[in-house]
Amino acid sequence: MKSRFPTINTDAGAASVAQAPANKVHGRLKPSLLGLALVFAAAAHAADAPDPARFAPCLAELKPDAQGRGISGAAYDRLTASLAPDMKVLELLDYQPEFRTAIWDYLSALVDDERVADGRAMQAQWSEVLKAVAARYRVDPATVVAVWGVESNFGRNFGARPLLTSLSTLSCYGRRQAYFRGEFFDALKIVDSGDVKAEQLTGSWAGAFGHTQFMPSTFLRLAVDFDDDGRRDLVGSVPDALASTANFLKKAGWREGEPWGYEVRLPSGFDASNAGRRNKQPLASWSARGITRIDGSPLGGGDAPAGLMLPAGPRGPAFLVFRNFDAIYGYNAAESYALAIAHLADRLKGGQPFATPWPTDDPGLSRVERRELQTLLIARGHAIGSVDGMLGDASRSAIRVEQQRLGHSIDGRAGQKLLKALKDSRP
Ligand code: CA
Repeated sequence: MKSRFPTINTDAGAASVAQAPANKVHGRLKPSLLGLALVFAAAAHAADAPDPARFAPCLAELKPDAQGRGISGAAYDRLTASLAPDMKVLELLDYQPEFRTAIWDYLSALVDDERVADGRAMQAQWSEVLKAVAARYRVDPATVVAVWGVESNFGRNFGARPLLTSLSTLSCYGRRQAYFRGEFFDALKIVDSGDVKAEQLTGSWAGAFGHTQFMPSTFLRLAVDFDDDGRRDLVGSVPDALASTANFLKKAGWREGEPWGYEVRLPSGFDASNAGRRNKQPLASWSARGITRIDGSPLGGGDAPAGLMLPAGPRGPAFLVFRNFDAIYGYNAAESYALAIAHLADRLKGGQPFATPWPTDDPGLSRVERRELQTLLIARGHAIGSVDGMLGDASRSAIRVEQQRLGHSIDGRAGQKLLKALKDSRP
């Protein structure tokens, strides 16, 4: 199963992010802005169930548009001949997340000791390639590896849905058809050009694919052939994938040698009303307001524009973020996502976990702990599927049952308290 990413921005300082299917739009869409459109789309859908018989005529209607985008009629016919719609992706498109994930839960699974160890092994295995990538694109190689780790768990998790099936379905049914048609045509171009074979082109339902989960349009703009075999292959070639990610970050404005940001300490009684990633102010002005590095040392002066980010409000970890944080944010428009990448990159370079605890008495679980929890749930007779460290709907239902039995508040959330209680009360 594809890992899930938040799609709701935390700019307002909210401490939680929505758990939604991967929706990789590389900064082009802000799902949080689509609320009003959704209300109308949902109303229209109820009266208009998708009709599979409309699929073939729809593909025929799209052919001239595809040809207008540079796809030959013969290629279009050949690549679409065996396509059938997958109505399941429409459910995913309209899925409205009801479960909100606290930032500490989100980060505890994405940046855990296991991913740091895996990332260091990858840094060692691909050190020559990473050196060459850093030299050509002038981007921090640890950040590139961190993107790889968060996007596909270092190539272990590409998503299993055939992309042409998903994108053709989304081009003919549901909301946002115009957007998905562009991605569908771009995916056809990728296959037609020979960069990636159609059967290797699988991914999340929304169309992101490969080691670093590019959308087809992003691929056409930014993917590179780094191993010089004549193909830009983000599925079969780690060098192509790492270099393409570096190219993305470079084009997004990465500045070599500058930090993404760092954790800071706020003076007591700090007025946080000027917080926000976008509200950049010169470093010297934050310094003048009493903010220090996390170890208490001065920020230094200078006029580098920095935003103060408080992902869980003023009682949690605080960060000053610079231009490079925005470059990471461009990869997938969510501050929690960018913080996960930035923090994992720091950890890969020997950095420590955040010094300030999250404002909770029930911290989140690493993937090792999530697997331990799932094993305990299975031992209690819950049919939650395989032990994969990913807590889906079945796990959450089982958690609610156990929370009720234990007298905990029933919210379906997996935290340290629940894990400990289950360990202490084996059946
Ligand atoms: Ca290549």
